[in-house]
Amino acid sequence: MRFARVGKAAPAWARLDGENAVIYGAAPWAGGEPTGQVVPLEKTELQAPVEPFKILCVGRNYAAHAKELGNEVPAEPLLFLKPKTSLVGHGGVVVLPRESSRVEHEAELGVVIGKTARNVPRERAMEHVFGYTCVCDVTARDLQRKDGQWTRAKGFDTFCPTGPWIETSLDPAALRVRCLVNDEVRQDGSTAQMVFDVAALVAYASGIMTLEPGDLLVTGTPEGVGPLVAGDKLVVEIEGIGALAVAVTIAAPAAAQAKDP
Ligand code: ZN
Repeated sequence: MRFARVGKAAPAWARLDGENAVIYGAAPWAGGEPTGQVVPLEKTELQAPVEPFKILCVGRNYAAHAKELGNEVPAEPLLFLKPKTSLVGHGGVVVLPRESSRVEHEAELGVVIGKTARNVPRERAMEHVFGYTCVCDVTARDLQRKDGQWTRAKGFDTFCPTGPWIETSLDPAALRVRCLVNDEVRQDGSTAQMVFDVAALVAYASGIMTLEPGDLLVTGTPEGVGPLVAGDKLVVEIEGIGALAVAVTIAAPAAAQAKDP
């Protein structure tokens, strides 16, 4: 099944049924049921299909990607967080910050948590997964190198395009993950190349922090990361899920930005 968050002012959860969104009263993992309202997909807007307390990401989880940036594969999963204000849905816009001269795409499989997970063993980890979505872990590479830790480089608003929806019926073991920029294939890998698979990541992470329903676990990127520039059309496509597409623009000069939102 496919679930999405639809609508602009007050987004609602919905199950996708062909060209329609069957509206739910709450998130599907929180006991949500159909309200009776059905909205044609073309008449609505897709939001990022998560409601996370946290976005937990994994660095260097593909050997070839670790190597392309001159890094070793870590002995344990390398975790970092992105703020939920970095989320943007299908059809949204990634805004390149003026502070960086090198912003890159990282196409990744996103895992949506459906059941609270704390100290979960590997054998039971998958029971806590609700489904899967496409994510781009947008990264200001120059700031990542400069800062040493990654909060700024990974944390700008709009740096976490996610969607277009959640696919619940999927085996994540060997899915093709591609990133296309202006229809040119930049990344083309498989989740089979992950150093730590989804079950291992859920188990490991749940030993550190409680994973809560709606949280998003982002599982690392295959090789081929590269720059984004204003005007690019960015697509992350994952086998069995679909294609997440966003536009890329550059932030207005500081003088033109309002002091408050
Ligand atoms: Zn990443």
